[in-house]
Amino acid sequence: MATATEDLLTQARTFIPGGVNSATRSIGSPTGFRTAKGSRLVDFDGREYVDYHAAFGAILLGHSDDRVNEAVTRSLGDLDLVGLGVTELEIEVARLTAELIPSVEMSITTMSGTEATMQAVRLSRAVTGRKYLLKFQGCFHGWHDAVARNVASSAEKAYTRDPLSAGILDDALDSTLVAEFNDLDSVKELFAAYPDQIAAVILEPVPHNVGALLPDQAFLEGLRELTTAEGSLLIFDEVITGFRHAPGGYQELCGITPDLTSYGKAMGNGFPVAGMGGRADLMSRFSSAGGDVVLAGTFNGNPVSMAAAIETMSVITDPDVGFHAHTARLGQRMRDGLTEITERRGITATVTGLGSVFICYFMDGEIKGYRDLLRNDDTAYATFHRRMTDAGFVMYPMTLKRNHVSGAHTDDDIDRTLEAADTVLAGMQRD
Ligand code: PMP
Repeated sequence: MATATEDLLTQARTFIPGGVNSATRSIGSPTGFRTAKGSRLVDFDGREYVDYHAAFGAILLGHSDDRVNEAVTRSLGDLDLVGLGVTELEIEVARLTAELIPSVEMSITTMSGTEATMQAVRLSRAVTGRKYLLKFQGCFHGWHDAVARNVASSAEKAYTRDPLSAGILDDALDSTLVAEFNDLDSVKELFAAYPDQIAAVILEPVPHNVGALLPDQAFLEGLRELTTAEGSLLIFDEVITGFRHAPGGYQELCGITPDLTSYGKAMGNGFPVAGMGGRADLMSRFSSAGGDVVLAGTFNGNPVSMAAAIETMSVITDPDVGFHAHTARLGQRMRDGLTEITERRGITATVTGLGSVFICYFMDGEIKGYRDLLRNDDTAYATFHRRMTDAGFVMYPMTLKRNHVSGAHTDDDIDRTLEAADTVLAGMQRD
C-alpha cells in the first residue's frame, strides 16, 4: 500500500517532468511541502523544518506573511487583471521603485527575473547598436539565451564555452563574453579585444549565485568608469540583492549607480513579480513610450503582484519594523556561530555572507574570484547541507547555494540551528 506521500510523488512524476517545476527544486528529500508559514515549512509527511532556502531568496519577510496576504486580498476585492491602460497599483510600484532604487527613474514590471534581465540586455543592445554582452563566470541572470553560459561551471568547464542548456544557438552563446569577477583587467582585456562592440556589462553586484562572492569596491567603481568611457551600459542584476540588502539594493550600499537595474525575487515576498528600470532616456526606448524595443507581457503589472510588491516595500522601509537591522543581526549571529563552531572543531571552512545571507564554504584561503571557489569541497558542502535538512533546517544541498534569514526568523531559530550545526559538523568529523 503506497503512503499518501508516495502516491502524491507518483502523480507528480507522471504529470510533471521529473516531478518538479524547476530542475533545481529536486533535492531528494523532503520531496514536497504542504504548508509554509513564517520561518517554517511542513512537508507531505507533516514534519516541520526551519527554512533558510527561502524559495531561492524570494521569501524576505517570512512565508505567507499576513501583511502581504491581506494587501493581496484587499486588491482582489477591487480588480483583477484588466490588461488595458494602467492601474493605480502599477503607478505606485513604479513610484516606490524610483524612490528606493538610486538608478531607477522609470521602470517596467515583469513576471520573472529572467524577463527583467532579458529586457535590460535587449535594451542595451538597442541603445548602443552593439552586439556583445559581457558577463562574469559564476553569475546567473536567468535562463534566456543571452545570459545562458558560464554560470556555476565545474572546474573542468569554468572559463570554457559552457552553455547552461542544450538548444541554444552558437551565435547567442558567442555573443556573450565572460570575464572574471573582481578582476578589472579581465574586463579591460575584453574591451580591448572587442573595441566599440560591447553593448553592456551585466553583473550580480554580489554574486549570490555562487554563495556570497563579496565585491571589491574598487572593482565596481572601475566597472562604472570603464563602461562610461567605452560607451557601454552597466547593468546591475539585483534580482537577489535588491530589497534584501537595503531598500535600494546593493547599489544603495556601494554608492555606485548603474545605467540599468533588474530586480525581482524578494520584491513581492514570494508572489511573482520582477522588473527593471533605469534612466528615463533609456527607458523611453520601450515601444510603450513610442520607442523601438518591444514591451509586452499579458501578466505584467497584474494587481496581485503589484499589491504584494507595494506591501513588501512598505514593510521593509517601516522604521518600526526594522527589517534590515533584524535580518542583518540574525545573519551575523549565524555567521559568527558557524565560524566559532568550525574553528573550535578545526574544520577547514570559510563562513561569509552579507546581511541576511550566510554561507559556509568548505575551503580556506582568500576568496576573491570564482577561481577561488573551485577549491570548495563540494562533497563536504553537500553533506553539511543535506544533514542540516535532515535535522529539520532546510539548507539547499546544491553546491554554492546561499542561505537566507527572513524577517520571521527569531533568535531561538538561530540558537537551535547552531546547536544542530555543531552536531552535524561533529558527525562529519567522525566519518
Ligand atoms: N538574476 C539573478 C541574479 C537570479 O538569481 C535569478 C534567479 N535565480 C534570475 C535573474 C532569474 O530570475 P527568475 O528565476 O525569476 O526568472
